[in-house]
Amino acid sequence: MSDTIEPVEEFRLRARAWIKENLGPVQPCDLSQHCANDEEELEVVARDRALQRKINDGGFAGICMPLEYGGLALTPEHNRAFNEELSGHEYPSRFAVPTFNPCASVLLEYATSEQKAKHIPAIMRGEEVWVQLLSEPGGGSDVAGITTSAVRDGDDWILNGSKVWTSRAWWADWGIILARTNWDVPKHKGMTVFIVPLHQPGVEIQRIERLNGESEACQEFFTDVRIPDSDRMGEVDAGWTIGTRWMYHERLGHNSPYVTSPVGLKRNTPQYEPSTVGIARKSGRLDDPGARELIGEHRALGIVTEQLQRRIAAGTGKGNVDLSSVDRLFRGVARVRRSTIAFELAGSSASVWDEEEESATEAVGMNFLMRQVACIGGGTTEISRNVVAERVLGMPREASGDRNVPFRDVPRGPKRG
Ligand SMILES: Cc1cc2nc3c(=O)[nH]c(=O)nc-3n(C[C@H](O)[C@H](O)[C@H](O)COP(=O)(O)OP(=O)(O)OC[C@H]3O[C@@H](n4cnc5c(N)ncnc54)[C@H](O)[C@@H]3O)c2cc1C
Repeated sequence: MSDTIEPVEEFRLRARAWIKENLGPVQPCDLSQHCANDEEELEVVARDRALQRKINDGGFAGICMPLEYGGLALTPEHNRAFNEELSGHEYPSRFAVPTFNPCASVLLEYATSEQKAKHIPAIMRGEEVWVQLLSEPGGGSDVAGITTSAVRDGDDWILNGSKVWTSRAWWADWGIILARTNWDVPKHKGMTVFIVPLHQPGVEIQRIERLNGESEACQEFFTDVRIPDSDRMGEVDAGWTIGTRWMYHERLGHNSPYVTSPVGLKRNTPQYEPSTVGIARKSGRLDDPGARELIGEHRALGIVTEQLQRRIAAGTGKGNVDLSSVDRLFRGVARVRRSTIAFELAGSSASVWDEEEESATEAVGMNFLMRQVACIGGGTTEISRNVVAERVLGMPREASGDRNVPFRDVPRGPKRG
């Protein structure tokens, strides 16, 4: 089989020529993931759908996905080569995470062949944007503590409850949801995964405004939503098996071989994200030895993040499952430190700027303001530390009083079930 696969370097040259011919320069909305208003956001979503379609029609979508669902069945190295060539070009940024990963990754592992045949090609054609419905108002870290419930009713299930912090649900199409289907067994044993269209009667989606003014995060309220059993993924009550793999894929984030997204240190252009050298020059600190140290640290963290991701991506393909938490932890901590360094170098211009003026350091200020997102989204770095301790270093498991108790009897807030 490997003899017949196109060599990576040949694939890279073909990808380079196609990208140059078909994709324009990277846009600010690709990098910031944040538009000035809803109208602009919906325009970018429509553009991303068209770009995804273009990549699909050009024969470069689903590089690592199976042939039977329209993918190319190539290797993570091929995907990496495409993503390196993509640097500096526009790309369907709103499809990368969570549509291709973790959603499509989970579908590929656990969906029925009918579900895969329906959804994987549609995702690759840019027709379906997916979200992940995991976190709940009662807490996101303890995923197995969910209380959104699904009750069997003939050939259907009736869904009730609420999910929160769902990125982009207001304009997405489908979601993967983890729901409680059995309250009489310990918490890890009574959950089931379903797929659900987001815009249907019984689903109310509210937006949540964040610190930087954007409101891509949503809370969903499900009231007697009917889900056909054919939209169940995996066995009844065995959702935790899927859930653990789902969170593994989530920790990989953009590092997944299913994701089309630029990689490499040159992925951003100075026009949209100023370099630390540029920032220090602007604030008159280029000759300051302290500033130079910060610039060096910023650069070193970037290189280590990049190399670590690369190494772990190669390793995870071979079953080193737990190392995804090392990558997730380092990525979060390094991003917070890099945002802080850029902010320190910029000085007052990153704290106060004239809204009428195009300010390169505005991005620095906003990144600093939102830096903790890197340690929360996709599971917190505290939880990653726990996973590293328990599953990588083999330390004893964290004490838990609810592991062997029927979920109905676990003490929690308002009574349910
Ligand atoms: C940008 C962004 C995008 C997101 N997108 C989505 C999405 O699309 N879908 C979705 O379902 N969710 C999403 N989330 C939610 C995210 O997964 C949760 O915020 C996260 O899992 C933490 O849950 P929580 O906020 O409820 O905090 P909690 O679980 O209440 O935790 C509060 C604090 O306690 C710490 N903590 C909790 N338990 C432990 C423990 N056992 N050991 C040590 N420390 C602990 C946590 O690390 C955290 O600091 C998103 C969040 C962000 C910031």
